[in-house]
Amino acid sequence: MSDLTPLHALGEFGLIRRLQQKITLRQPGTVLGIGDDAAILAPTAGQEVVMTTDLLVEGVHFDLSFCPLKHLGYKAVAVNVSDIAAMNALPTQLVLGLAVPSRFSVEAIEELYEGVRLACEAYNVDLVGGDTTSTRTGLTLAVTVLGEAPAGQAVRRSGGKPTDLLCVSGDLGGAYMGLQVLEREKQVFLADPEAQPELDNYEYVVQRQLRPEARLDVVHELRELGLTPTSMIDVSDGLASEVMHLCAASGTGARVFTDNIPVANPTLEAAAEFNLDPLTCALNGGEDYELLFTLPVTAYEKIKNHPDITIIGHLTDKEDAVSLVTKAGQAVPLQAQGWKAF
Ligand code: ADP
Ligand code: MG
Repeated sequence: MSDLTPLHALGEFGLIRRLQQKITLRQPGTVLGIGDDAAILAPTAGQEVVMTTDLLVEGVHFDLSFCPLKHLGYKAVAVNVSDIAAMNALPTQLVLGLAVPSRFSVEAIEELYEGVRLACEAYNVDLVGGDTTSTRTGLTLAVTVLGEAPAGQAVRRSGGKPTDLLCVSGDLGGAYMGLQVLEREKQVFLADPEAQPELDNYEYVVQRQLRPEARLDVVHELRELGLTPTSMIDVSDGLASEVMHLCAASGTGARVFTDNIPVANPTLEAAAEFNLDPLTCALNGGEDYELLFTLPVTAYEKIKNHPDITIIGHLTDKEDAVSLVTKAGQAVPLQAQGWKAF
C-alpha cells in the first residue's frame, strides 16, 4: 500500500535508536544524554535551575487534520521554552514523553522529531531523554524543560509594584485568528475533500497558530539593556487572564490602555473578515506566547522606542481593580475569559 514503516517493525528500542541518531548535544551542562536509565546534568555554578512541563493531547490541544507533525514537534518545545523565558531563564535540557497510537508510522514520528530537533537548535536546548509508549487514544506529548537563571534573578509573577510599567512583547490575537482560519478551512475540506485550503492571505496568523516562537530573544535583549523585570508571565491564555494572574500574584491592580494593545495588521484584517473584535482576540484568544512583564518607571527611556516591546499600561494599588481604559478615558473592569482546560 505505502512504503511507510509500521511502528511494530522497529519496536520501541529501534525507534528510540533511530530518533537518537539525529540528536546533537550543545549544552556544556549535559554530561550524558539519551541511552542510559537517566541523563546526567551538571548545573552551572551560580545559577538556579528552573523546570516546567506541559502536556499536549490530540483533540484537546491540537488537531492533526491541520497541524503538520513537524510544526507540532516544534510547538511542543516552544511552548515549554516560553515558560522558561517567562522566568527570565534560558533553557538547557528537555525530556519528551510520547504516547503514540499504533496507526502512526515510523516516518510520522520522525517528522514530529524533526520539529523537535529544529526547536532544540533554535533555542539551544538539549533533548536528553524521554519515554515512549503506545496508546489506544490520541497522540500525546509530555515535554519537560529545564533552564537556568543567575541566582536571585529568576523572575516570578509576584514581584510587580504599583506604578511599574506593564509591558508586552510582540503582538497579540494572531494565534487565535490563525485558529479561526484553520477551523474554517477544515470545515470546507470536510464538506469537499477535493477543496484546496485557502491560506495564502493568512500566512501571518496561521504561522502564529502553528509555529509560535518562545521570546527568548526578549529575555536576551532585556539583559543587554541591563533590565530585570519585576514580574513576568507568558501570554498563553490571552492577555486579560495573564494580567489578572500577574496582579493577583503581585497584590496590585492595573490599568491597561486598550489603544496601546499591539495587534498586527494581518490580525486586524482577518478579524474584520470574520466579524470579530480584534481587541477581544487579543484579550481572550490564546497561544500568542508573548511575554507580559513589569519594569520600574525608571526603565521608561530604555524601552519607550523598543520595536519588540509595547508599554500597555501600569500597575496600581490593590484597591484599584484591574481595569481596561478605553480611548475615551473610560475605565471598565477587565474580565478574563481565557482558555479553560475543563
Ligand atoms: P527505561 O526503561 O529506563 O525507561 P527506556 O528504554 O524507556 O528506558 O529509554 C531508553 C533511553 O531512551 C533513555 O535514555 C530514555 O530517556 C530515552 N528515551 C526513551 N523514549 C524517548 C523519547 N521519546 N525521546 C527521547 N528519548 C527517549
Ligand atoms: Mg522508559
